[in-house]
Amino acid sequence: MFDIKSITRKNILNMQAYSSARSEFKGKADVWLDANENPNATNLNRYPDPLQLQLKSEISKLKNVPLEQIFIGNGSDEAIDLLFRAFCEPETSKAYIFPPTYGMYQVSAAINNIELVEIPLTQTFELPSLQMIQSNLKSEGLVFICSPNNPTGNDMNSDRIKEIANDFKGLVVVDEAYIDFSESKSAISLLEEIPNLVVLQTFSKAYGLAGARVGTAFASPEIIAILNKIKPPYNINTLSIDAALNVLNNKKSIQKQIDETILERNRLRIALSNLLSVEKIYPSDANFLLVEFTDSDSVFKELISQGIVVRNRSSQIKNCLRVTIGSKEENEKLMSVLNEIAS
Ligand SMILES: *Cc1c(COP(=O)(O)O)cnc(C)c1O
Repeated sequence: MFDIKSITRKNILNMQAYSSARSEFKGKADVWLDANENPNATNLNRYPDPLQLQLKSEISKLKNVPLEQIFIGNGSDEAIDLLFRAFCEPETSKAYIFPPTYGMYQVSAAINNIELVEIPLTQTFELPSLQMIQSNLKSEGLVFICSPNNPTGNDMNSDRIKEIANDFKGLVVVDEAYIDFSESKSAISLLEEIPNLVVLQTFSKAYGLAGARVGTAFASPEIIAILNKIKPPYNINTLSIDAALNVLNNKKSIQKQIDETILERNRLRIALSNLLSVEKIYPSDANFLLVEFTDSDSVFKELISQGIVVRNRSSQIKNCLRVTIGSKEENEKLMSVLNEIAS
């Protein structure tokens, strides 16, 4: 049986969490003299709810996950860092990634002094065979699987994710920053059967709140309790909580935007495929396309000189640029510049 205590760092198990004024008092009151706040009412003079219960209750309804299985972080990047701090012993545990993938896993591992083990994706950017993965998963720690993967754009096989989690003694973190653009089912549906699973999602991409810094982690109540224990007391500010609540009140318009992005993704793929300078466009389940050019560095520079910034991924994947799906107008501008370069 998987026991979260056995993989939690001893200092974290033994420490006492900071108890803030707003976390100690539960109930109704009219006079708040417990937190040394300024009594003059603005919408920001009070500390925010440390556990963001109102926002969590909306997320709970939307995702059909109980409150105590939801953690909200200052972006999913905060959740990634807290997972390292709670479940990886510096210099002893390891983190496993499947490159090419999101860069923050590596950065967070380095900050926390955790050795990173790279198990490359296959040529078509799929997870490698279970045997290949198993021979690499030697010690406890964290496995990161990004699905849909950044920067390749494709979904990872969910059966393989299950197999990895069943086999591994540490935590398997599935990063679903782009899940809203994919037709695949979220790994949230696996939480009941896989106790060592953590699913990350974010308000930064489809939900349009990159500037608010709101990310979510879904996991067992035991894992979430540990993240809550070590997070900064007021990690999500009032403005961001309100912004997230507001978006969740406008789910229809978000879905419309997602549908538009997917339409644009198809249009852009067709337009790009007609260019002689384009060698290959990888399949995408996300809001970007990974595009291989004959000479990506020169295309990249040309685009910059015309005021268009895409992500140069050629150091990770030869001759590849990652292009975010923009608005119809932005995508047309991109295509007109690419056509110009070609002629
Ligand atoms: C953009 C992105 C995130 C989002 O991070 P936030 O801190 O929530 O903005 C997480 N994971 C991946 C793979 C991403 O591409």
